[in-house]
Amino acid sequence: MYHKISILVIEDEKSICDFISRTLELNDYKVMTANTGKDGLAIITSQLPDLVLLDLGLPDMDGMDIIRQTREWSSMPIIVISARTQEKEKVNALDVGADDYITKPFGTSELMARIRTAMRHSNKIGSNNQLITKEYRAKDLRVDFDKRRITLDGNEVHLTRVEYKIVSILAQNSGRVITYDALINEIWGPYAGDNNRILRVNMANIRRKLEKNPAEPEYIFTELGVGYRMLEDEG
Ligand code: CA
Repeated sequence: MYHKISILVIEDEKSICDFISRTLELNDYKVMTANTGKDGLAIITSQLPDLVLLDLGLPDMDGMDIIRQTREWSSMPIIVISARTQEKEKVNALDVGADDYITKPFGTSELMARIRTAMRHSNKIGSNNQLITKEYRAKDLRVDFDKRRITLDGNEVHLTRVEYKIVSILAQNSGRVITYDALINEIWGPYAGDNNRILRVNMANIRRKLEKNPAEPEYIFTELGVGYRMLEDEG
């Protein structure tokens, strides 16, 4: 039997809720909707959707609380929809357990890409870096995780140990945002202190080696004030 992937949309703005629902249905997803946080939580626990799209600004409760309450018992992917541009809020949502976010206004292809990525990561065994993927491929870039080798247009790219680690973490999580703090913790450990500057220096060097034009990156994008997002794997 064929089961459609079910997605719950928790969003109080009717026009946005309708737009998302239509888009998802056209793309063969099963859609459930809730206009309040209370209804959303009830559907999460009773219907167990495969993925949740969650607006943070709801009339009856803070979206953050929905993430927290859901994370107490479930790892279902949660993508936050936010009109607010405050980086702090995006970081907070990721910190309390959201998988990713999408900022209004967004287009159909961006929404679909975020959902695909979140579903892909949720299907992986062991959430941390235990990969099943052996290679990252996008445009002219290849990262061979077994051989720890990076090539661009067939030519080997020479990275330092730390640079390689940064790229491999981003490539293993391609398509989703990784916060500065998460990267720093992963590389230098929880006692790294303020390594933001070192991370930025490393990223500048990585871009010099990987990007045709480091000012307009094709592979690793900066999500201002939040972190980095690497171009989604094509394989
Ligand atoms: Ca709202």
